Amino acid sequence: KKITIAIDGYSSTGKSTVAKQLAKELGYIYVDTGAMYRAVTLYVMRKLFVTDTNFDEESILRHLPFINLKFVFDEELGHGEIYLNKENVEKEIRLLEVSKHVSKVSALPKVREMLVKLQKEMGKDKGVVMDGRDIGTVVFPDADLKIFMTASTEKRAERRYKELMEKGENISYDEILENVKERDYLDTTRKDSPLRKADDAIEVDNSNMSLEEQYEKVVKLAKD
Ligand code: C5P
Repeated sequence: KKITIAIDGYSSTGKSTVAKQLAKELGYIYVDTGAMYRAVTLYVMRKLFVTDTNFDEESILRHLPFINLKFVFDEELGHGEIYLNKENVEKEIRLLEVSKHVSKVSALPKVREMLVKLQKEMGKDKGVVMDGRDIGTVVFPDADLKIFMTASTEKRAERRYKELMEKGENISYDEILENVKERDYLDTTRKDSPLRKADDAIEVDNSNMSLEEQYEKVVKLAKD
């Protein structure tokens, strides 16, 4: 039987690495919902030059009907990459500029409504591994397996720092730590915040686990 696997947790907990690997092993589709929120954010940033001071909800909402999102499977990578109106934006959505605005854009109920609907369709009646913040609570409350990943703030900032350094971004560790903290704050304190552990989710704190250890633990849960 093909099952639905929800992997939720804070940013940079290594959710996506584990989720991708798991989907590949099981022959399931992998859906990175953070990439979807990031792609919507990128689109409105390009259109509106969103900055902290001119965050205009109404004009953001006007753009939503023109956003088309799709994951296109890449044989070589073994998972899908996100396309925004036919353009591969997988790299651009990871830039710190986008990370700085994504929590505000994704707090808009209309944005969530649009993406949750899309996510439900993407995972319907298929073997799917979906990662995000609200998969086990909102998108698939009936998921067969729910995992909630956590790690200390510093550990997560450290991982993010390494990742961005490898990509050649010129940022300090402190700037990243600040962004991780700010996103945690915005993601957890907003009204109806979806970022919480579902009652039936299994918590995996990976602060002191290697990628292999995390993966082994999750695969075991999926196969049991
Ligand atoms: O997973 P990632 O860190 O790429 O997600 C980026 C942002 O998108 C999060 O900080 C959060 O604000 C938002 N998000 C969300 N709901 C999801 C996935 C991501 O609100 N299911």
